Amino acid sequence: MVERFTGSFTQQEPLPEEAIEAAVAVMRHGRLHRYNTAPGEVSEVALLEQEFAAMLGARYCLAVASGGYAIATALRALGVKAGDRVLTNAFTLAPVPGAIASLGAVPVLVGVTPQLTIDLEDLAAKADQAEVLLLSHMRGHLADMDALMALCDARGIAVIEDCAHTMGAAWHGKASGTQGKVGCFSCQTYKHINAGEGGLLITDDAEVAARAVLLSGSYMLYDRHAAAPGSEVFEGLRYETPNISGRMDNLRAAVLRPQVQRLPDQVARWNERYRKIEAGLRETPGLTLIDRPAKESIVGSSFQFLLEGWSADQLREVVAHCANRGVELKWFGAPEPVGFTSRYDHWHYAPVQKMPASDAVLAGLLDMRVPLTFSLEDCALVARIIRAEVTAVYQAT
Ligand SMILES: *Cc1c(COP(=O)(O)O)cnc(C)c1O
Repeated sequence: MVERFTGSFTQQEPLPEEAIEAAVAVMRHGRLHRYNTAPGEVSEVALLEQEFAAMLGARYCLAVASGGYAIATALRALGVKAGDRVLTNAFTLAPVPGAIASLGAVPVLVGVTPQLTIDLEDLAAKADQAEVLLLSHMRGHLADMDALMALCDARGIAVIEDCAHTMGAAWHGKASGTQGKVGCFSCQTYKHINAGEGGLLITDDAEVAARAVLLSGSYMLYDRHAAAPGSEVFEGLRYETPNISGRMDNLRAAVLRPQVQRLPDQVARWNERYRKIEAGLRETPGLTLIDRPAKESIVGSSFQFLLEGWSADQLREVVAHCANRGVELKWFGAPEPVGFTSRYDHWHYAPVQKMPASDAVLAGLLDMRVPLTFSLEDCALVARIIRAEVTAVYQAT
């Protein structure tokens, strides 16, 4: 009998009851806007910011409308202007170069290694081209952050971390998002906490935090923030910082707060599933797993592997055969953007750059989501199907 998988790769878990109750309470009192508070009340958004900052050990936190908005705000808060060049990953999702383009700034793409992290040699070679690196921990893979920060510190490059896939992860025991000057997170449904849409920005830099609060549209009500610097920091900035509205509301914050508290448990559940799939794919002929360094604490919310040196037709065959058996793989080598898998050469607003080493990695890269609605048995089945189909195509050639 041919085994088929019938689960959904896009189905997340329901929100915890506590989150649902908190949302209903906000709807009952009606004060959904973050600055609409009763006397003495601290808003859900301000509490979320405080709790998220405490969890990561960051000094300041700002909740906003989306992860992409958090990134664009971080770039603005660091003083990036139209025409400036910003270093960023060639392997990432479109909202990352998109945030740079939204300022009229210009992405300078840095290559990807077969470990799926930013190529530090390529970064060193391009370091004199920009003063900011927007570093995307794409698909949760952390580069050697000690080496990366040493390189960027030595070259005077400020680092913004895109932690859309690393909320809850760490490098060498230090939370992802706290290594660079600013860390940006997404609370969109497919990330690690789910508000539909939403973003979080953390920093230890008082001036960057104050600028971010003003940029997000604080209407000079910044004293209602519980995780922002004192009003003296805002004094010099309040007249020169434009209001580019992108606040989070109390309804979203209410559903996120209980999810922040249970994040460590969810991370453990993701990693059990990740390791199950990894174990099921070990020593599949022709298939390369991505080694996870000992210093990296992962969040296995998605899974990647390489079919190195395989032809485009073979890759297409594997994807099609797995799809027939209910396993949805995304291929980063496709000539046209499909769903979330666009490739750097699809971003025509970025100057064309030739990156043959990155092209070779992406040509063999397959990816899948691992939602927590999958049981461990589901994960073992998914791995068995991939293993069988990869082996079949491999042996046919
Ligand atoms: C989702 C995502 C973002 C942006 O988050 P949104 O909340 O969707 O704007 C940024 N970077 C990566 C790698 C992402 O996956």
